[in-house]
Amino acid sequence: MGLTFKSFNYLPGFSCLGGDCEDTCCKDWDIWFDQSHYQLLADTAEQKGSELTKKINTHILIDNSNQETGSELRYARLKLEKDGSCPFLLNDGWCELHREFGEQPLSNVCAYFPRVLSRQGNTIELSGALSCPEMVRQCLFGENNVELIEVKSSILPRPDDYPLTRELNLPADNFYYDNFVDVRDVLIKFAGLEGFPLISRLYFMASFANRLGLFYHLEAETADNLLANELKQASSLSMLERMDDYVSKFDSTEPVAIIVVQAVLQLRMQQFSHEKYSQVIKRIFSHYGELMTKQSQVPGKEEVLPAEELWQQFTRQRVSIDELFSEELENCFSRYIINCLYREWFITMPDLFTYVHMLIIRLAILRFLVYSHPDIYQLAQEIKHRDGSVKEDEKKLFRNYLVDVVYKNSRAIDHNTAFLQVVYDAIHEQQMMTFEYSLPFIKF
Ligand code: SF4
Repeated sequence: MGLTFKSFNYLPGFSCLGGDCEDTCCKDWDIWFDQSHYQLLADTAEQKGSELTKKINTHILIDNSNQETGSELRYARLKLEKDGSCPFLLNDGWCELHREFGEQPLSNVCAYFPRVLSRQGNTIELSGALSCPEMVRQCLFGENNVELIEVKSSILPRPDDYPLTRELNLPADNFYYDNFVDVRDVLIKFAGLEGFPLISRLYFMASFANRLGLFYHLEAETADNLLANELKQASSLSMLERMDDYVSKFDSTEPVAIIVVQAVLQLRMQQFSHEKYSQVIKRIFSHYGELMTKQSQVPGKEEVLPAEELWQQFTRQRVSIDELFSEELENCFSRYIINCLYREWFITMPDLFTYVHMLIIRLAILRFLVYSHPDIYQLAQEIKHRDGSVKEDEKKLFRNYLVDVVYKNSRAIDHNTAFLQVVYDAIHEQQMMTFEYSLPFIKF
């Protein structure tokens, strides 16, 4: 049976900005060639008598330790320049290898980033990595971006040669895997339910994941009836309305979520003090520190800001920014969640609740950064002091700030499995990996 390709509406038209990109991905990244593409590149360069042959031999190094272990995927590694840039990156922002030889012999990452391909059964799903600023723009602000549409494989850079990030053969003879698509469809439906506020939609997701946790996980025995019942219940409007009512009335004064978010960001800043993301975090905490010093005599230079005060200041900023941009932000955050649900499969984790809970915590971190960003806050203040109406150029500026935060957050947190594992371990250790703790992060 043939394969069907599906993609978000914004992906077929995606095009790398090259020299116009605000933060090229051809820098600081660990790039590996698999054996076949390395060989193709070396052969093509030699056959063409290209002057690049010498440069390829000097800068793309076969990894002997991998050869010994027989790794074909990590066969040769790109040696970056001292400043972290790719030696093949030209001054105009384009790739020398791409220009000389086309896409065929490039490494999978270079040919495909920021596209992500996943195969389940006979369907190949194409989604986008939000660590690329241009992909963020397309994903958050493009039209009809919440469902996958059928596309032709010709939209791919190499239609007959594409890397799969993950694969699932169906049927898999495993209750967890075999029902993955149906369960994920429910999560995606919840995330896109525009008739409810985002916080309620997140609560629907967490509650659903929590209920399923009893009988639906990697080690679970088949429980078709229980699952069918939950999938049916998921469309019950009266149940959703009851949950929506509950969420709207939940009012936690405990700043538990902000304690976690602050700790995660502080840790990131300590571990990677020179990265651009850390500069954003530093600006945010300095900004809060200054505001607190002015308003309550709390010393602003303390390493960790007092949680109660931080929570109050953050809440003030969130309300103020939401007065102008809540619709836009709800839209963007739900697209972010839907993109994550397609790009990162929950079955890569042993149970659904852990996946959803971690996703909600990640969204809380992102929301903290957006609502705390000094430039976004200042823009909102200026608009409100004038007449409260957002002009086109201000909307554009707001979107630029948003793109900046989202792609940097994706590079530092979302696509950094080692760091996410640290966050997971900390949450687990604090015994916060429970449904009881979902709501404070949801209502963040
Ligand atoms: S980050 Fe995106 S737009 Fe920028 S150079 Fe990389 S692929 Fe192109």
